[in-house]
Amino acid sequence: MSQSYDYDLFVIGAGSGGVRAARLTALGGKRVAVAEEYRVGGTCVIRGCVPKKFMVMASEVSHQLETAKGFGWTIEGASFDWKTFLTTKEAEIARLSGIYTANLGKAGVDVLQGRAVLKDNHTVEIVGTGQTITAERILIAVGGRPFKPDVPGIEHAITSEEAFLLHELPKKVVVVGGGYIAVEFAGIYAGLGVDTTLVYRGSNILRGFDEDVRAHLTREIEKHGVKVMLGCEHTEIVKTENGLLSRFSNDWEIETDQVMFATGRQPYVKDLGLENAGVELTESGAIKVDDYSKTTADNIWAVGDVTDRINLTPVAIREAVAFHETVYKNNPQRFDYEAVPTAVFSQPPVGTVGLTEAEARRACPGEVDVYVTRFRPMKYAFYGAEYRTLMKLVVEAETQKVVGCHIVGPDAPEMIQLAAIAVKAGLTKDQWDATCALHPTAAEELVTLRDKQAPQASVG
Ligand code: NDP
Repeated sequence: MSQSYDYDLFVIGAGSGGVRAARLTALGGKRVAVAEEYRVGGTCVIRGCVPKKFMVMASEVSHQLETAKGFGWTIEGASFDWKTFLTTKEAEIARLSGIYTANLGKAGVDVLQGRAVLKDNHTVEIVGTGQTITAERILIAVGGRPFKPDVPGIEHAITSEEAFLLHELPKKVVVVGGGYIAVEFAGIYAGLGVDTTLVYRGSNILRGFDEDVRAHLTREIEKHGVKVMLGCEHTEIVKTENGLLSRFSNDWEIETDQVMFATGRQPYVKDLGLENAGVELTESGAIKVDDYSKTTADNIWAVGDVTDRINLTPVAIREAVAFHETVYKNNPQRFDYEAVPTAVFSQPPVGTVGLTEAEARRACPGEVDVYVTRFRPMKYAFYGAEYRTLMKLVVEAETQKVVGCHIVGPDAPEMIQLAAIAVKAGLTKDQWDATCALHPTAAEELVTLRDKQAPQASVG
């Protein structure tokens, strides 16, 4: 490094991507600093994946209590205390954030509290302190922020960020959106006993997911107590004596004590000083990067949600690793965005990897074979509950490669992580079937699917 800079690498944002890049680079002997304006850990640890999963776990207990009764347990006086949950959750998030901070320290990374903005290609300023720092290279990993549409009264609505910190659990809630966060929070609220309506502007939730998954999940979340209102949007939100009155485009009205918008997240590029360094944005407002996460500016890279590629924690981490290999180890690496598994922690959850049936029909030159099963897991059949699991394999007919695997049901995310190995490896349906079933499990269905779905029976 040229000794004329304070650091070899300056990372803006101590979330999943930033922390990984900072640690690897410091462990490689470079002088590294990271600036964080809020809490070390970023979206995933502080106001995303981790606290969300705790909320899902808390919420699922109500369903487990129902199952327990089905198995002969008597459970009396079960109740949920939001404040106890919040306190425990905050302690655990603080512990995890502390581990992140400690690991940065152990690697020799300097952690600076504050928002860093670019002054030029080698210089950042920490807002409020006037401190100016130079670095040979800069990595932007500032993530995203929730987006709320411009609806009259939108200031009364919360987003997921506030939902994690509410002092009181609402009794009645409207959740807006049909994506990951809306579907997950609708399930959380319903499981915690909140009267929950999910409102989505489109024809079915989870646009972009396999059509069978979308249809199946909608039915199942309704069984779990979520009221689903499709094809309508807010026209206004009015504050009333009792709470918030939502008015919708279909002339419906609902009064609730909370309205939560989960209408997407946007790259957090505001006031970052990008123009001072020549960092350009895409049309959708993300930082423009090449395959190696290099921005349009010299010496500056960007990873994670701020680049709006696939906005998932493990992807940000892999992008950070690829950045480190490319820039500091003379080993140019680009992350492979094919067959990234993903889960929606709805109730029941979704796990998916590879192509949807519609995508496969577009991408594969020949025919596509589709295998679908819908069944009652033995746990539910035991006491007569009507919850159903969906499993679907999408197979390119010519090569017999399994190009997509989609599951809705208990443990779907756990199963899909393993199924993703086979999809990523390009294994064929015969190879899946050559794997001996493990009985009795739900997952064994994945290696025993025999009957192809008739072409006309499947939605494109
Ligand atoms: P998504 O992009 O998944 O969904 C946004 C939803 O809001 C869509 O249903 C969209 O509708 C709707 N919407 C957008 N604009 C408007 C509007 N003006 N009025 C009404 N509805 C609107 O975003 P999320 O906020 O749910 O999550 C953000 C990202 O975070 C995800 O894409 C994912 O990458 C990540 N994430 C991942 C999780 C996981 O891995 N389990 C969990 C949570 C988040 P339409 O479909 O019509 O565009």
